[in-house]
Amino acid sequence: MGVENNGKKHVVIIGGGFAGINVIKKLDKKKFTITLIDRHNFHSFPPLFYQIASSGLDTGSISFPFRREIRHMRHVRFHMGEVKKVDTTAKTVTTQFETISYDYLVIAAGTTNNFFGMDELRDKVYTLKSVAEAIRLRNEILDRLERASIEKNPERKKQLLSFVVIGAGPTGVEVAGAIGEMKRYIIPREYPEIDKNDLKILIVEGADRVLRTMSEDASRHAREYLGHLMVDVKLNTSMLGYDNNMVKLANGEEVYCETLIWTAGIVGEPISGFEDSVYAKGGRFKVDSCNRVYGHDDIFALGDIAYLESPKYPRGYPQLAQVAIQQARCLCENLNKGEFNKTFEYNDKGSMATVGRNRAVADLHKLHMYGRPAWVTWMFIHLISILGMRNKLTVLINWIWAYCTYSTSLRLLVRPTKYPYRHHWDLAKE
Ligand SMILES: Cc1cc2nc3c(=O)[nH]c(=O)nc-3n(C[C@H](O)[C@H](O)[C@H](O)COP(=O)(O)OP(=O)(O)OC[C@H]3O[C@@H](n4cnc5c(N)ncnc54)[C@H](O)[C@@H]3O)c2cc1C
Repeated sequence: MGVENNGKKHVVIIGGGFAGINVIKKLDKKKFTITLIDRHNFHSFPPLFYQIASSGLDTGSISFPFRREIRHMRHVRFHMGEVKKVDTTAKTVTTQFETISYDYLVIAAGTTNNFFGMDELRDKVYTLKSVAEAIRLRNEILDRLERASIEKNPERKKQLLSFVVIGAGPTGVEVAGAIGEMKRYIIPREYPEIDKNDLKILIVEGADRVLRTMSEDASRHAREYLGHLMVDVKLNTSMLGYDNNMVKLANGEEVYCETLIWTAGIVGEPISGFEDSVYAKGGRFKVDSCNRVYGHDDIFALGDIAYLESPKYPRGYPQLAQVAIQQARCLCENLNKGEFNKTFEYNDKGSMATVGRNRAVADLHKLHMYGRPAWVTWMFIHLISILGMRNKLTVLINWIWAYCTYSTSLRLLVRPTKYPYRHHWDLAKE
């Protein structure tokens, strides 16, 4: 059943991530009807993708079906589809299934992996920008462990267990730390055929420290924690290419690696129908301080896909969940009032990263925390941010279980299988 308009303005939202879902929560239902379009039928929680990849959590505990979230919202409709085109004159959005009219359009489509011109990497590396990519990495890690367990040739065994992570931002550090945990605690117990020292994890980073957007103390502690988990780090060098399992580094070195995990960059995916001048560096939409896309008073961009400079952030706001959430709230305040007099100001609540159990770093304004206190704070903040009570409880139980047993019970290698072909179902063609 569609949504009755009753003279209300119709808002179409592209993307149900942190920004999109907060617009749905905050828009005045007496004034607006909403259509949410997303290529997936669920909202997910990217900060914990690395725990899916390392078998710490299952996908269901960090994802939430949109239809469940909106089940009591009669003014909201959900459309699962991929936005292909926007017609800013006719004021329509087109997916592979339908063309939908809007009064206001909110673009909250997030970003995708940026390979900085090395597009051939798309088919060679493992990434962590979606639930599907996290599952693919989990399967790959489990597959490597099984293959190494039956490999007789000691050199080949080491090759099968070679992991390189490109990028030492929070995602790179967290995923490397999680594989380090498996090396330290799970392999000795459950993979008797593997000597844990044969598994190598290397992080490659172009900057002179890990977690370069955090304080120097946080970087130093994170580096120390990585060392404890037997993760090697190479700084001040970037990756130039990856061919025949050899990672070519800018410092001239070449490193053998069978599982290359790319966490080095993100970029906006252009949406057809916009003039080139609306795009800033990184494929983001240029917006004003009320998140209006340049030249379009009825179109807004929020979150990772929005680009807004400010004196404190001359290269645009950081692409973080809190920015997306706060921009969504600011936009809704303006739309609900019908006046654009509130401008966006980012209230930076700080940043944190975890490196295995009991260890994390947190920069919260003037408060800097390390080790277990930071880890407990990290867990608390992530728990309250996950959508849905069932999910919060599942994650908490999983974490308590893993903490007590030093293990994760989700190491299931479930490979996707082929669907029967339905020629009338367009999704099958994707
Ligand atoms: C692995 C990882 C770890 C992270 N860790 C942290 C962290 O610890 N702390 C932090 O603050 N931030 C973290 N981030 C960043 C944070 O997740 C983003 O800043 C945040 O998700 C941005 O929200 P958004 O709403 O702009 O986009 P997203 O949350 O990316 O949502 C975009 C939505 O749009 C949909 N979509 C995209 N294109 C289309 C289309 N053409 N048609 C239909 N639907 C579309 C997608 O399916 C998705 O649901 C992390 C990100 C990743 C990938």
